[in-house]
Amino acid sequence: LESQILRAQRLESIGTLASGIAHDLNNILTPILTAAQLLQLKMPNTNERNQQMLKTIEANSKRGAALVKQVLQFARGVDGQRSIVQVSHLCSEIQQIVQETFPKSIELTQNIQPGLWAVIGDATHLHQLLMNLVVNARDAMPRGGNIKISAENLLIDEQYARMNLDARVGAYIVVTIADTGMGMRSEIIDRIFEPFFTTKEIGKGTGLGLSTVRGIIQSHGGFVNVSSHVGRGTEFKVFLPAVEVANTLLGEDLELLKGNGE
Ligand code: ADP
Repeated sequence: LESQILRAQRLESIGTLASGIAHDLNNILTPILTAAQLLQLKMPNTNERNQQMLKTIEANSKRGAALVKQVLQFARGVDGQRSIVQVSHLCSEIQQIVQETFPKSIELTQNIQPGLWAVIGDATHLHQLLMNLVVNARDAMPRGGNIKISAENLLIDEQYARMNLDARVGAYIVVTIADTGMGMRSEIIDRIFEPFFTTKEIGKGTGLGLSTVRGIIQSHGGFVNVSSHVGRGTEFKVFLPAVEVANTLLGEDLELLKGNGE
């Protein structure tokens, strides 16, 4: 069993690493592709040799982008079971673990909107996502403090979607995890989702927590926003596509409603 767990963890790290690299590579390829396309438009009369070279750059950065897409899909494929997940249940589980295992100097408060919608996804992964954020919040407050988890419904409209590249029009649940910890400088924030990036002592941090978080959010079609102030604290806002059914309904009812196409 132990070796199975180790293997699963290793596979997960590889998946995380692969998707981290793929993501970065995508950020490198996109401007190359755009530049090659722009140059072709700007220089329609350049000689044949130059046109050929620009076409080569364009074609090969497209090939690279397709490969990146495959790797990302593979990494996402590691994701397992899909079911209707009630975020309020996840939050109660997290609350219990925090109460049982965190130092007494850390207080956790919850604020769940009544009639919160549900998420279709992998409950284990979503649990891990919240747990990783809460553990980071604890580590940012060595002298204690407050962690606040809130969850609310959000309908993203066209205007919002236009302002945020990752957002799509539709129903979301927003889970906010805020701490009163040490906060982060902006150079740090820029790097926190990179695999193996850590500011913690050797043995204390792997640097895989947040890249796993990002992977899980992406595999659910969601996105994440971070804001942080040094000495005041940090807030992670996780946006997950939702089904517009109140979580007060029983799971079976949710299945039925889903089966009937709402
Ligand atoms: P690890 O926790 O193993 O270092 P993570 O990927 O979870 O790896 O986090 C990367 C880094 O992001 C942390 O080392 C820390 O510097 C920073 N970080 C993450 N969450 C917080 C937080 N809530 N407050 C301050 N810094 C944070």
